[in-house]
Amino acid sequence: MRDGGYRQLTDLFELMRRFPTEAACRGYLLSRRWPQGFSCPRCGNNSYYFISTRHLYQCRACSYQASATAGTVMQATRTPLRAWFALIFLMARSKTGLSILGFSRDFGIPYKRALSMAGKVREAMAARDSRYRMCGLLELDESYFGAGGHGKRGRGTDKRPVLVAVSLKGEGPAHARMQVLSSLTSSDIKVVVKAGLEKGSRVRTDGLNSWPPALVGMEHEPSVLGSPQAASEKLPWVHILIANAKGILRGVHHGVRYLQPYLSEFCWRFSRRYFQPELFDRLLCACLDCGPQAGQALQLAA
Ligand SMILES: [Zn+2]
Repeated sequence: MRDGGYRQLTDLFELMRRFPTEAACRGYLLSRRWPQGFSCPRCGNNSYYFISTRHLYQCRACSYQASATAGTVMQATRTPLRAWFALIFLMARSKTGLSILGFSRDFGIPYKRALSMAGKVREAMAARDSRYRMCGLLELDESYFGAGGHGKRGRGTDKRPVLVAVSLKGEGPAHARMQVLSSLTSSDIKVVVKAGLEKGSRVRTDGLNSWPPALVGMEHEPSVLGSPQAASEKLPWVHILIANAKGILRGVHHGVRYLQPYLSEFCWRFSRRYFQPELFDRLLCACLDCGPQAGQALQLAA
């Protein structure tokens, strides 16, 4: 729908200057939803009236009225669009993850509603990344996230296993993906690998027995990692990413009940860290492409 052509926004001042009113926000949403001109979501007709007082497109053929937010994560929202824009801006750019409690206080939005808004934005991030398959040279590893039992560590605890993949470009990491699994069996890993990795990718892992059956069709490069030092030499980026994600979950969100949306948020931002001025627009477009039910399905699944 919207490949490339993202508009840049350098800082919060510019956000406030460009979107000073609700009308300015609605006008921008309409221009981003239908950049080539309006096309009726019901009948596909391209001919329309624009009702400027209500910021609606009305189809000339079937009279369907399309608003800026219908069919998006912002559908029927009671929250000012300026607050949505601020949330999207801040979530897209925050290095360590945005405190939703702080956001709700700063913008005078009830905490539960702010949590629900952030959940929808996270699902838009997850939906956008699920469109892409990782390829080329990858590091793949498993880790356990969550509170866990007292004194227990590593495999065999009640923490949740997470599959972590990092694609490499030159000397450094390019994209990241993290997926909560119900177990670290080959069959569970295989489902995620099949959905998220291109066949023929070169995949570096540790010596876990689950990998070979799960990585059929890949160029698998396992290494036996006897010590933490060996692990950080053979699979450096995946370990750095796991440590960073755990630090953010502990520090900013103080542990979370639903893990997957936070991991998806972390990976969305990591994979786009070199596009800082475009991030607001990229995330806004992802929110426009994601349906109004966003946030609910993910919470059930996580
Ligand atoms: Zn129509």
